[in-house]
Amino acid sequence: MTTEIHFRDDQLIRIWQKVQRGERLTLEDGLTMYRTPDLLSLGKMAHFVQQQKSGDAVYFVLNQKIEHTNVCVLSCKFCDFATKKGRPDAYEMTTEEILSKITPDIHEVHITGGMPADWPWERYLDIVRSIHDKFPNTDVKAFTAVEIDFFHKKFKMPVEEVLRQLYDAGMRTMPGGGAEVFSERVRKLLFPQKIGAKGWFQVHKAAHKLGIPTNSTLLYGHIETLEERLIHMMKLREAQDETGGFLTFIPLAFQPGDTGIKPKNQFTSAIDDLKTIAISRLMLDNFPHIKAYWVMLTEEVAAMALNFGADDMDGTVGGEKIAHNAGAISPMTLAKDQIIRIIKDAGKIPVERDVYYNPLKLYTDNIIGKIPYLNSVPFYANFEKGQYRILPVAPRRMGVLSEQNQIDAGLFSLMDYFNQHEKLELMGWCIATRDQVKSVMLFSNEGWLDLNGKTIGITDDTATSVKLLKVLLEKKYGVSAKFERLHAGVNDYSKYDAVLLIGDEALRANKTGLDGFELVFDLAREWYDWEKLPFVFAVWAMKKSLPEERKAELKEMIAYSLDKTAGDFVAAAGVYGKSVGLTDAETQEYLAGFNFNLGEREREGMMKFRELARVESVRT
Ligand code: SF4
Repeated sequence: MTTEIHFRDDQLIRIWQKVQRGERLTLEDGLTMYRTPDLLSLGKMAHFVQQQKSGDAVYFVLNQKIEHTNVCVLSCKFCDFATKKGRPDAYEMTTEEILSKITPDIHEVHITGGMPADWPWERYLDIVRSIHDKFPNTDVKAFTAVEIDFFHKKFKMPVEEVLRQLYDAGMRTMPGGGAEVFSERVRKLLFPQKIGAKGWFQVHKAAHKLGIPTNSTLLYGHIETLEERLIHMMKLREAQDETGGFLTFIPLAFQPGDTGIKPKNQFTSAIDDLKTIAISRLMLDNFPHIKAYWVMLTEEVAAMALNFGADDMDGTVGGEKIAHNAGAISPMTLAKDQIIRIIKDAGKIPVERDVYYNPLKLYTDNIIGKIPYLNSVPFYANFEKGQYRILPVAPRRMGVLSEQNQIDAGLFSLMDYFNQHEKLELMGWCIATRDQVKSVMLFSNEGWLDLNGKTIGITDDTATSVKLLKVLLEKKYGVSAKFERLHAGVNDYSKYDAVLLIGDEALRANKTGLDGFELVFDLAREWYDWEKLPFVFAVWAMKKSLPEERKAELKEMIAYSLDKTAGDFVAAAGVYGKSVGLTDAETQEYLAGFNFNLGEREREGMMKFRELARVESVRT
């Protein structure tokens, strides 16, 4: 899939070359992009990066906003929401009132609000715990870094303890607001009582360390300069390099309301909004998602943002008050059907998600699943998708979506194919290796025999590598270990004796080492040394029920893509190799190490593994 851009502003060509080479953009690049009149080229560059990261997916979540009180001890200048206790407009919701706003179809409850002086700690825990207990399918995203810092000071508990107790009560992620823009100049002028960049990052990094992923925001369009916006993005990029715990970046357009900071109706322009979305996609090269928050952008601009680098529409957002009190002109709630229509009109796949961005339901047909790892690139780099849409999705999730008949074809984890062989038909391609794989790795403090009785953290992304590990431990080495599934988001590996990682995460850790683990084992090499057969990690398969002409067409498309790649893996991988920390030579060597055709030996390897893994009979 190539992107051709006819630039009207020559200044952008140098930036486009950097983007294509996977080079990091600088403050100067950011300023050039903000100053360019060539809006469409900027959008195309951002769209190129978005396509590499999330294909045709645009995510949304069925969510409910809970603003539990508007009573606040602070008085931020730009806030039109907060009030003081006892005033006629003050409100404080009880836990029962909060629960009555939530319905079982909601997947995310987003809690933020004022900070009253007299609420006890237990009241906050009770809100989170009650939602978690009453609605087990609903995840709680709660409290900005400012609120967490307030709890830390008011209840005299370390930030880590505040977060730990909230996590134990059921909080799963954190929203990104609070610091607005990481500029001391702006903070002193608009919200001097709030924590600045240092405090905000301290809270978010502590959350990431505890396994709580978080979001991040930028409030723009008030008194901040373009440099301050870009420095804000670059600070986030640096923190993401360190923790990897940010899920998304959300540029929030300032709503002037009665704040007095700007005239009441002086909203940001659509051009500024679209530029900020596109520039954030380009600057934040290590962020998985960029959100077009329709509540502040308006529905129309959010729809356009889907072709300017955004891959998330947020959600239905029932009950939002903060932005609307400040004069947001968007509707209070956007119906699910409307969100689906907007996403479909942009030519994308509407993907209903959970808080971790796991796809739950897809609202369009003709979807091809794509394992979002470097080793699948040769199949997709030259895939002329035509009527099809590409959904990057972790192998295990692809298996679930296939069970629900939501995708037509894809590169399936071998175990998922075994489990669904009655409805799936093999297509003749695979991801297999006859030696090391470099991306299915066990990081350990013990040799294989000493892992007996030890606890191993195992990836939640695929069943095949986990099964392979179990087979090696039990059948090759005769030891029995305990397994604990790593959860979505960031994990604390230090509590395990060994950790099994796969895909790009394993590839990165294999190169740099994984802190706290001295030994590293390549599972494919372990298998090959033992069985002298290739190990097949994934196979291409499609629904048996597809019409024959569609099956033939799909096979032709995959064969064409693979053929066009013709061993030039560096060209096929584009910026991907660099994004996982590999040089061009390493990318070429890594991908050249795979067998992509499902030959006789690969089928033998599959059958041997099936036998050892005790999977019911399947025909290969
Ligand atoms: S922005 Fe938040 S902290 Fe500041 S006054 Fe409003 S509710 Fe309180």
